[in-house]
Amino acid sequence: MYLIVGAGPAGAVMAERIASQRDRKVLVIDRREHLAGNLYDAIDDNGVMVHRYGPHIFHTNDREVWDYLSRFTRWHHYFHRAGAVVDGRIVPIPFNFDSLHALFPPHLAARLEQRLLANHAYGEHIPVLDLLETEDPDLRFLARYVFDNLFAGYTAKQWGRDAHTLDRSVTGRVPIRLSRDDRYFRDVYQGIPADGYTRMVENLLDHPNVELRLGVDYADLRGERFTKTIYTGKIDELFDHRFGPLPYRSLRFDYRTIDKPYFQPLAQVNYPQSYDFTRITEYKHFLDQQTPRSTIGIEYPLEHVPGENEPYYPIPDDASRAAYEQYRAEAAKRDDLILLGRLAEYRYYNMDQVVRRAFDVFEAEVA
Ligand code: FAD
Ligand code: UDP
Repeated sequence: MYLIVGAGPAGAVMAERIASQRDRKVLVIDRREHLAGNLYDAIDDNGVMVHRYGPHIFHTNDREVWDYLSRFTRWHHYFHRAGAVVDGRIVPIPFNFDSLHALFPPHLAARLEQRLLANHAYGEHIPVLDLLETEDPDLRFLARYVFDNLFAGYTAKQWGRDAHTLDRSVTGRVPIRLSRDDRYFRDVYQGIPADGYTRMVENLLDHPNVELRLGVDYADLRGERFTKTIYTGKIDELFDHRFGPLPYRSLRFDYRTIDKPYFQPLAQVNYPQSYDFTRITEYKHFLDQQTPRSTIGIEYPLEHVPGENEPYYPIPDDASRAAYEQYRAEAAKRDDLILLGRLAEYRYYNMDQVVRRAFDVFEAEVA
């Protein structure tokens, strides 16, 4: 019997693989009262499919991952578009030529666009931290403006620190786009599960070899023996924080009913300059649901305190990675233990990366 701790996407894909490809029994546990991990969604009182742990948009260039998940869900084809409120108006984020023209007077916008195209190819995407290092004075002005008004405040709220102290890949997720492409993601495959993520994960776990127990913590099963344990929870918790707690960012979600059909024009609007929250999600846009009322989720980032709130984001920087390595070395001493997923591997994985990791770890480590 294999044990899988955590019924999120990492645990569910691993369970499906072991059950269907190795014909072995799998026990999946989750301490929460529901499956699907942070992908959990449900229809609320307003008839809107709401993601309880924040907005989730599936996107990937990995055809194998897309084809695999497509066996467990139909897709509502959806390109995510987000706006940021800058100087009082909603402009496309990632920052693109339309954002440029919306924010600057015509002659200045034209000059900046011309300088961008004199130095870079049309269609290129440039991380803002890279553009800040440019020699060209016009482009440095633009980079400074974009950094100060779209990134500095948002990043300070989201991570509780300056953008320069995080891995460059963090702000690099949302680069400046030298085009009018206003899709948040450029991946070939994008969508929202038509019947929700929860249903997709239920389908993954729907196999006679899989037993699911909800409301069960790994601590409840310690002492029991399993062929292997695939652990997808926090790694520092697994070892009783013996090298100190690892830093994670948490979030508080304020869900509100809006007594009219729409609150905002897009699913996601960011607030880099104002308020204590980072973004507002209006969920009905994801599945294009037509309802008389709407539901929004307002996101307030905060420090993770074990036992008090959820660990949503590992913090991508050198110090936390070094701290993580101590735990990983400890885990390597146990040959019945496999670490998998965003919390156990302490990596800022998107959903598709977690599925790909599950495939690879399954092939490498489950005989
Ligand atoms: P999780 O989904 O966190 O599942 C781990 C599970 O393990 C949890 O259910 C937990 O209860 C359980 N568990 C932990 N410890 C124990 C224990 N000791 N005993 C029992 N159970 C335990 N990705 C995208 O691709 N697109 C997006 O748009 C996107 N948006 C996001 C927005 C937010 C706000 C957040 C926080 C994440 C977002 N992600 C997105 C990332 C996505 O949520 C993760 O990639 C994914 O959830 C990781 O899956 P996982 O199975 O590793 O972990
Ligand atoms: N970011 C920002 N302003 C924005 C959007 C993103 O500064 O309007 C930065 C911020 O540091 C954020 C990171 O880019 O944490 C990655 O953004 P993404 O939207 O990918 O974050 P996620 O959806 O994973 O929370």
